[in-house]
Amino acid sequence: MRETAVVTGGAGFLGAYLCERLIGLDFKVICLDNLITGRLQNIANLSAKRNFSFIKHDVTKDIVLKDKVSLILHFASPASPVDYLQYPIQTLKVGSLGTYNSLGLARKNKARFLLASTSEVYGDPLVHPQAEDYWGNVNSIGPRGVYDEAKRFAEAITMAYHRTHKIDTRIVRIFNTFGPRMRKDDGRAIPNFISQALEHKPLTVYGKGLQTRSFCYVDDLIDGIMKLLLLKREACFPMNIGNPSEMRMIDLAKTIITLTQSKSKIRFQPLPIDDPRQRKPDISRAKRFLKWQPKVELKSGLSKTIAWFRS
Ligand code: UDP
Repeated sequence: MRETAVVTGGAGFLGAYLCERLIGLDFKVICLDNLITGRLQNIANLSAKRNFSFIKHDVTKDIVLKDKVSLILHFASPASPVDYLQYPIQTLKVGSLGTYNSLGLARKNKARFLLASTSEVYGDPLVHPQAEDYWGNVNSIGPRGVYDEAKRFAEAITMAYHRTHKIDTRIVRIFNTFGPRMRKDDGRAIPNFISQALEHKPLTVYGKGLQTRSFCYVDDLIDGIMKLLLLKREACFPMNIGNPSEMRMIDLAKTIITLTQSKSKIRFQPLPIDDPRQRKPDISRAKRFLKWQPKVELKSGLSKTIAWFRS
């Protein structure tokens, strides 16, 4: 009999890729999403598959399923700064109540549980690059605090369930990721810059553009997550998954102008509050435990993403 996997936030950018991979591995997949930031379009290619089902559900409410479940991937949450500023309370609720409900489902089914955490748990980091043993520098009462603290709580309750109820849990700390199917209006740097460049409008670089990020192409990220999910040994400790090649936002904007052969100029705009000044994952742990590292170069990933945005 096929095993069943539940993906919360399965109609989101990353959730949909995970549903697809799990179907490919012959799992029965149940996708739960309330569609506030997820989109049915992301799972349109799966809806006809016999082993796939979508349930419109807000996981901050009880999750009741008939199936026996063996894997739970908790990816439900607004995840771009623009989205979580628009939905601050939903973000806090899905990170807290949503994680609690998803862990309850894992406990009832004795299922393996994987939490989508984030590099945002490191806040505006005082240690560079960020390894998993760095505890972070988060402003709990700032506007980004709703996401950062929700995910920090989610990690804490995941570990509590692991220690108390002996659930097989995994925590992936996801760094900046990009690729086809990102929402054009999700407000992140790459979709903003690509859509602005394609329309020959000014690229909105915040601050002086000297802040850095390290961008991972979605296929690499999903490979890393799947390896962590299916690892046969215990792996309850958090794992950074991301691409360590770091760059300044001004350079990202210039690269996108070149790749799109755009006539756009750069327009500097105010830096958002608490915008982290630098970010780069230390991926030694993932290399050691998962034998994983990213393969796709930034320019090649950007070209695929630009092609998708054009179409
Ligand atoms: N950013 C920018 N222009 C934009 C969108 C974002 O300069 O139109 C900057 C943002 O201030 C941040 C970086 O790009 O420093 C990455 O932002 P994003 O929203 O993609 O992700 P974050 O890492 O902040 O969650």
